[in-house]
Amino acid sequence: MRIVRTVLGDIPPEELGVTDSHDHLIRTGGQEVRDDIDFLMDSVDKAVEEMNYFIEAGGKSLIAMDPIGCGRNVPMMLEVAKRLEGRAHIVMSTGFHKGEFYDNRMHWLATCDIDKVAEMLVAEIQVGMDKHSYNGPIVERVSAKAGVIKSGTSYSVITPFEQRQIEAVALTHKATGVPIVTHTQMGTMALETVELYKKRGVSPERIALSHVQKNPDFYYHKRVLATGAYICYDGPDRVKYYTDETQAKLIAALVEAGYQKQILLSMDAGRASYQTAHSKGIAHGIAYMLTDFVPLLREVGVKEDAIEDILINNPARFFSFEPVS
Ligand SMILES: [Zn+2]
Repeated sequence: MRIVRTVLGDIPPEELGVTDSHDHLIRTGGQEVRDDIDFLMDSVDKAVEEMNYFIEAGGKSLIAMDPIGCGRNVPMMLEVAKRLEGRAHIVMSTGFHKGEFYDNRMHWLATCDIDKVAEMLVAEIQVGMDKHSYNGPIVERVSAKAGVIKSGTSYSVITPFEQRQIEAVALTHKATGVPIVTHTQMGTMALETVELYKKRGVSPERIALSHVQKNPDFYYHKRVLATGAYICYDGPDRVKYYTDETQAKLIAALVEAGYQKQILLSMDAGRASYQTAHSKGIAHGIAYMLTDFVPLLREVGVKEDAIEDILINNPARFFSFEPVS
């Protein structure tokens, strides 16, 4: 029986509902926060408030894509999930971000045997996440388990460190069945990522590539989708990159080309200034995906059945798996 592994336990896929497939509610440290304090999101109250706006707009579930070593805070996210119990589902991730965020020479991913790295990720999925997110030698597991695995790549290159991530994540996926969501930098290296995973025995339909909309190239997206992989558009409300119109019309064209079963949608609102609850003024938040972007999808001609696939059916299929234990 297929399940989705949420922070508060396994649920049937049909319970997932309208899903934000890649987002952030809590981040309490890591390289991004060191670089820019706007990435700090350290309030349970504000995370719950932000989710409440999403729920009011018709949302149900959120996939929190904070991996090891990037400010993931398991106890705080557990608290958020508990306060939303019965109204929303949260899935958390294990795995890694792009190589830039780690010491590529001395990190345990670089120095330890790859099977041992995979064992650490598998334990987060099957036993429970480390409440310290493997930030040090003391591991204390909570009962909450990870339900998705992350790997990341750089702009136009997959570095040796990132290739080791892919190796460890592929082993973890094969041991657990848990799906893989990747970070692509500016949408590059999506095809190469799928190829590396395929070589390691992972089916493309268990991989979703995030941020491909930052390279808003219809023909490139079609090539990625032709492999069988999913793509996650997390571009709404980021006009510093591309307009909503660009993203919506690309989705409409890809639906027209027959790929509506492989598209996921998210806000990836991973900065305090992107979230309504954190903002010190008027700001869009996670709810914008449903209040503004979905109506635009309708306006550019995306039909209801495709919208239902993108928001509900595709996440339910993609994030569910047959649990090994
Ligand atoms: Zn993200």
